[in-house]
Amino acid sequence: MAGSRRLETTARITKNRNDTAEPGKGNKRSRYDTRKEDWKCPLYKKITGTDFVVDGFHYAKQSLTKNYFLSHYHSDHYGGLLSRWNMGTIYCSLPTANLVSQQLRVDRKFLHPLVMNQPTIIESRGKPVTVTCLDANHCPGAVMFFFEIGRKQILHVGDFRWSREIMLHGPLSSPLQKIASQKMELDELYLDTTYCNEKYVLPSQAKAIKATITMFENELERCKGNSLKRTLHLFGAYTIGKEKIYLSVAEHFGLIVYVDKARYRILSVVLPKECMKLLTTNKELATIWVVPMSHLNMKKMPEYFGIANSKPFAPAYDRIVGYRPTGWSITRSGIISSRNRGNLAIHSVPYSEHSSFPELVDCLACLKPAKIIPTVKASKSDEQVKVLLKGLRNRQTVLRLS
Ligand SMILES: [Zn+2]
Repeated sequence: MAGSRRLETTARITKNRNDTAEPGKGNKRSRYDTRKEDWKCPLYKKITGTDFVVDGFHYAKQSLTKNYFLSHYHSDHYGGLLSRWNMGTIYCSLPTANLVSQQLRVDRKFLHPLVMNQPTIIESRGKPVTVTCLDANHCPGAVMFFFEIGRKQILHVGDFRWSREIMLHGPLSSPLQKIASQKMELDELYLDTTYCNEKYVLPSQAKAIKATITMFENELERCKGNSLKRTLHLFGAYTIGKEKIYLSVAEHFGLIVYVDKARYRILSVVLPKECMKLLTTNKELATIWVVPMSHLNMKKMPEYFGIANSKPFAPAYDRIVGYRPTGWSITRSGIISSRNRGNLAIHSVPYSEHSSFPELVDCLACLKPAKIIPTVKASKSDEQVKVLLKGLRNRQTVLRLS
């Protein structure tokens, strides 16, 4: 029975020197034709018992495999994918396939979008493997891969934010439902250990969004009934990711959001139509602008006065407020930490698209994997697994006491 099994205390770890190295885009090592033989794919990117490689495009070569999986469109996962890709089939979600084709110009013939929650059989070394894509609750198009290899079950989460509501309350036939209700065992869990430290206790996304709406409301109050007061709201975002927070704020206040044309083009292939209705590429129509996360500092933000107030007869902004939605901005007191300087303010919102430490522990408590394979800072796999197991023991003690 899955519930009676003990988690292994030792994680798999590769001794390869490239274990922790995440080569940057354009690194000469990612050129398929010049790849050196010692540029080995780390074990945490290989699915046990198959020739499947997940998020390992830097290591692609003829002798490795013809079956590549891409969990989502973030550069630390698709890194190594180039327009001249010809190393094999790339399995991913439809939104991710659209982005890889549009942004990286990879030939469509190599892209194989998988239907969400629907088992698909893919051959590995002549043997059938069943693969199911599940919602990873990360950025648009992000998936977890569930592999059934003979009698072995493996889950690779890519990057994920664990949520019982999203991951365990789907259809009863969902593999995670079966595992959580102990009708099926999970042999291996490839885990996103971004916040693998007990100090990373983050509010839920809903709580972080609610706190942001309150801050936003305060700004609206400040401007109420005074035409000389007008606030420009800047939301930091990555190429994709963090959409939920600014779209939720816009929807709550009946506003629309400005994004530049490049971002609009990207979002148009991953977001549903009803979300696209909340976006515009006309700055003058919106008081919420999406900007690169790196622009949210006291040095860069004043430049936005010049950009936003360039039309002499348009109502001018007298204040700019930036919102930095990132899990790294946790504080000891309150949810949001703020900095003010003159007519500028920056609110750091602990809005995360990765699992907090208690959520990682909850994931282990629900899925009871026989083996954990950390995929972040993999050179510290052993320590990470120990920290997780300690978290699990402490949680069980707390539950027994209550
Ligand atoms: Zn990611």
